Amino acid sequence: MSETYDAFVGRVRELYTLYSISELLEWDQETQMPPKAAEDRGRQAALLAGLAHDRLTSAELGSLLDALEAEDFSDDHAAGTNVREVRRAFDRAVKLPRALVAEIARTSSVAKANWAQARADSDFARFAPHLQRMLDLKRQVADCVGWDGEPYDALMDEYEPGARSAEVQKVFEQVKAELVPLVAELRDAPRQPDESIRSRSCPVEQQAAFGRRIMEAMGFDFEAGRMDSSTHPFCAGVSPRDVRLTTRYDEHYLPMALFGLMHETGHALYEQGLDAAHAFTPMAQAVSLGIHESQSRLWENQVGRSRAFWEYYFPELQATFPSMADVTLDDWYFAINTVRPSLIRVEADEVTYGLHIMLRFDLERKMLRGELAVADVPEAWNEGMRQLLGLTPPDEAQGCLQDIHWAMGIIGYFPTYALGNLYAAQFFAAARAALPDLDDQLRRGTLLPLREWLREHIHRHGQRYRAGELVEKVTGRPLAPEPFVAYLREKFRPLYGLS
Ligand code: ZN
Repeated sequence: MSETYDAFVGRVRELYTLYSISELLEWDQETQMPPKAAEDRGRQAALLAGLAHDRLTSAELGSLLDALEAEDFSDDHAAGTNVREVRRAFDRAVKLPRALVAEIARTSSVAKANWAQARADSDFARFAPHLQRMLDLKRQVADCVGWDGEPYDALMDEYEPGARSAEVQKVFEQVKAELVPLVAELRDAPRQPDESIRSRSCPVEQQAAFGRRIMEAMGFDFEAGRMDSSTHPFCAGVSPRDVRLTTRYDEHYLPMALFGLMHETGHALYEQGLDAAHAFTPMAQAVSLGIHESQSRLWENQVGRSRAFWEYYFPELQATFPSMADVTLDDWYFAINTVRPSLIRVEADEVTYGLHIMLRFDLERKMLRGELAVADVPEAWNEGMRQLLGLTPPDEAQGCLQDIHWAMGIIGYFPTYALGNLYAAQFFAAARAALPDLDDQLRRGTLLPLREWLREHIHRHGQRYRAGELVEKVTGRPLAPEPFVAYLREKFRPLYGLS
């Protein structure tokens, strides 16, 4: 490898080391940090972010990229990937004026405080001017970065590189056309689950031990990661050898910790499955938020909410929690797959979840194109909820004020959640075709072959392929609505007693 490339990689490793230190500090802030340290932590985080920005946008890195782009990396995909992805980050960062980035940070911290108060009072008018300000700034970001289709593309690109909103919309529309009638069918179906099973008392200590056993079976490496509790569960990938996830417990709602843990472990297996030899370079980073979310949803839903999985784990669950002694496997399986249109996105089931996202995706694009005035958001939101889920939010707190994303300025982020569900279904269908005895393995509690398959086909490649390319390579076709829709229909219609 050329001396230029070695110099480049040295710089890139330092840059990504700064990012990983920030990640570690964030983990600490959510799990360990004493409350009085908040201001100091803000100072530490700001300094690190500034250092990273200076390094990313430095003239030296720019010249190295220019020089390397004259070289031929066709026989070295790792080098080719690292140059391509650092160039992408470099271009995006140098196009954004420092003052704009700082203004977004300032606006976001004020907007978050006002959003919290507005949500508490269910008063959208209080939040509206801050949302307007944030939209103006994000529109400027889109114009600085550049876009061909529509400004939303430039924002979504930050989270899902290469995705185009027109294409995403096409897939979403097809899914929507299937899901809306399916949700209505299930709502009126002859069989309905006994949801109360989920609220039976399960001591927190046993929940943690049970969750840990499942994490071990999934192949989480406790020598290269850890599990803690926090108010908002997350997974921090400091490096492939240091992956930290969190969960939260409710004694009277086992599914929260249980499926939360499987979800975060799905994220964590992706981080642990990145190639450590390439640590601190794009070759050992996740492809996109959507692909990351596909890994968490696949373990949470396709595995964790499958009957096969519980054929093995339900007797163990009953042995762990005496309150479940008289519950049957079928009743448990039905209860954890309850489908019910609801107002709050984060509480939505796997059938209705995507509809919540499609509403946000639609409103964000319209706001950014100037087709929807901020003042009209509550009405547009309620109208969307009626059309998609047949519900009218009783107030703005349970409507358009429920999510923090707009206050944070992460516009274009929502679609990655729904893309994650679509990718998950498509990947799982491919895994099932490649591993014909996958269901039998799940029935035996054997989860490692699936993890190996995901590692081999997805995790170890880091950012070698963009999301669209990866999906096509792994599943033989581009992102499509059918695998997700088929998965939901085949799982939920029989469960609800529909032929
Ligand atoms: Zn997630």
